[in-house]
Amino acid sequence: MSKVAIVTGGTRGIGAAISTALKAAGYTVAAVYAGNDEAAKAFTAETGIATYKWSVADYDACAAGVAQVEADLGPVAVLVNNAGITRDAPFHKMTRQQWTEVMDTNLSGLFNMTHPVWPGMRERKFGRVISISSINGQKGQFAQTNYAAAKAGDLGFTKALAQEGARAGVTVNAICPGYINTEMMSTIPEKVMNEVILPQIPVGRLGEAEEIARCVVFLASDDAGFITGSTISANGGQYMV
Ligand code: NDP
Repeated sequence: MSKVAIVTGGTRGIGAAISTALKAAGYTVAAVYAGNDEAAKAFTAETGIATYKWSVADYDACAAGVAQVEADLGPVAVLVNNAGITRDAPFHKMTRQQWTEVMDTNLSGLFNMTHPVWPGMRERKFGRVISISSINGQKGQFAQTNYAAAKAGDLGFTKALAQEGARAGVTVNAICPGYINTEMMSTIPEKVMNEVILPQIPVGRLGEAEEIARCVVFLASDDAGFITGSTISANGGQYMV
């Protein structure tokens, strides 16, 4: 029987590429999304991947959602915490709501989603928790105190939990993408792209969502069993740690 993988934010952008790559690698995938029914419907029509709607910011909804996925598809072997949002503003203008929304989704979302799958992974002596952090959680970014703090928190979560999962065969890792060629990037003016963004990236181009997805497929595999608590920086050389 194929292993079950949950990908949060798995219907669009980087998450859609991750869901698709995991399916191609033989996993049964459940892609979770928050509210964009249209995109989710189109994604299922195109890929045949099942979608589930709940917010990773809601602890009870995550517990109920995971239980539903397990009833439908079987025990979860792989969790990809990919769902993430931005609410950018310079700190002096940042509202408490902008801070809280980003923390609730990008940081507490990891707790809310990992907590319900963790006991089963430990019992079965196998599990993979892979979280998509960000280069901006490593280096900081203007107008992103909320986002950078949450994404840096994701790395602390990963390193601490990896120590707890190690003896139980559960690995916990993070990936920090740099600039990735998603919908968001297509709105950036060509001049800004060519004169500001690309010169910061030694490889000279944006990353592709599929390049992040291939990192996930590797970390999910049996071959990656000795890798835990680690961070893969996939950023074209933009920031080296
Ligand atoms: P997108 O904005 O393209 O997609 C976000 C996905 O997450 C959607 O499926 C969305 O659902 C879902 N989502 C958002 N909030 C929630 C929530 N509360 N509960 C459940 N699902 C939710 O994101 P990207 O592909 O750009 O980013 C994916 C991840 O990669 C994020 O964590 C981001 O921070 C990180 N990242 C992205 C980079 C980039 O260049 N794009 C660079 C570095 C890191 P719906 O469709 O319903 O809105």
